Order: sequence, then C-alpha cells, then structure tokens
Amino acid sequence: MREEEFFRKERERLVRQLEEEGILKDPHVKRALLKVPREEFVLPEYRRYAYVDRPLPILAGQTISAPHMCCIMCQALELKPGHKVLEVGTGSGYHAALCAEIVAPENSEKKGHVYTIEIVPELVKFAMENLKRAGYLDRVTVVHGDGTKGLPEYAPYDRILVTAAGPDVPPPLIEQLKEGGKLVMPIGPPYGLQILVLVEKDKNGKCRYRNLGGCLFVSLRGEYGWK
Ligand code: SAH
Repeated sequence: MREEEFFRKERERLVRQLEEEGILKDPHVKRALLKVPREEFVLPEYRRYAYVDRPLPILAGQTISAPHMCCIMCQALELKPGHKVLEVGTGSGYHAALCAEIVAPENSEKKGHVYTIEIVPELVKFAMENLKRAGYLDRVTVVHGDGTKGLPEYAPYDRILVTAAGPDVPPPLIEQLKEGGKLVMPIGPPYGLQILVLVEKDKNGKCRYRNLGGCLFVSLRGEYGWK
C-alpha cells in the first residue's frame, strides 16, 4: 500500500472510532479530521502512529494533543467558516491546521483566519515547517511570543483556544474576545486535576463559564501562566 493510501485509511479509521465513541458529532470537524495530515505534524519517528488517539511528544518536552481533545475543543467552540481564531500554544501546528480547515476551507467565499502564538522559538520553526508542507501557511499566521497577553494586533477574535493548562483565564484573552464569542481553555495545576472550561461572552460583554470535564495538558507559561 502506498503511504498516502495508508494514511487516508488511518484518518478514516480514527474518524469512525471517534464517532463510535460518541465524541465526534460536528460535520465541520469531521471534514477537517479527514483532511488534515496529522503525520506531517509529528516527529518522523512517530509518523506511523500519527492516527493513534493519543498525545505524542514533539520538541522541547511538549506534546501534540490527542485527536479526541482537538475534536472536543473545536466542537465546543462551534467553529464556522469565516471565523477569526486565536490559538495560544501552537506546538506542532496541527490544531491550528484543523481550525483553519474549518474557518477557511478551500473554494469557500468565507475566508476566516487562524492566528497562533507559541512561546518556544524552536516550536515556532517546527510548526511553520509543518504548516507549510501541509499547505496551511496561507490561512494560519504563526507568531512567537507570550500568548497569555493575547495578540492585540489582530483582536478581537470570534474564537480563542488555549492548548496549555493555566491557573485561570488570562484577562487579556477575555478582553480580546468578541461579544458573542467563545473561548476554550484547560484550567488547573501542572500534572494535577485540570478542567476544560468554555467561556461564552454575551452581547453585553458578560461572561458565562462552563465546565466541560477533566483533561490533561502541558503547563501554560508566561505572564498569566504558572511561574
Ligand atoms: N496545539 C498544539 C499543542 C501544543 S502543547 C498542537 O496541536 O500540537 C502546548 C503548547 O503551548 C506548547 O508548545 C508550549 O510551548 C506552548 N505554550 C506554553 N505556554 C505558552 C504561552 N504563554 N504562550 C504561547 N505558547 C505557550
């Protein structure tokens, strides 16, 4: 079997698995999971395991999130074509590519965009190379910096996702979220009990917090992260 064929079948298998588990429900997310080549976002030695539903080590002691977690977060955000998204914690660039596939699909008039910020310079380079190879650099902008301060240059955002666990939602992220916008973020201590939280900002700027359940992420650093 050609490698391309193998990975296509693997993507289909993973999607079936996530549907059977009752995790995958949103057709936009399903399309993105079937399209984005996760094998281009893992280290060469893990290529064969790209569609095992687990986080995998990348560089600098960080991890690419498990597909089911990317799925849960994208669905909670209710991403739609045309959205402007901010991701804090680029890592491999995979989750940013999934978001881009939903908010800015090819041949669509609705052109959304994903801005993603990463604190580790080595990972900024890694993600940019991966996104370029997979064909997403036109729809994803990678920035080096502390994402707990957000990215005011392109604010406000329709949707914000944080892919590392912090002590609380950083105030600049709440400020940079549009009214009617949604934010998803894991909250909790390093290696301790963490909870995935959904923040919905209403038309008057008031925020409602919802607990989406337990999770395990690497630690958020920076000004509003863990010291
Ligand atoms: N979304 C990524 C998951 C990466 S793990 C993926 O799909 O692969 C979380 C990432 O957050 C790590 O790369 C880590 O370096 C980064 N990170 C931690 N604190 C950060 C901060 N304050 N600003 C930006 N990135 C941060």
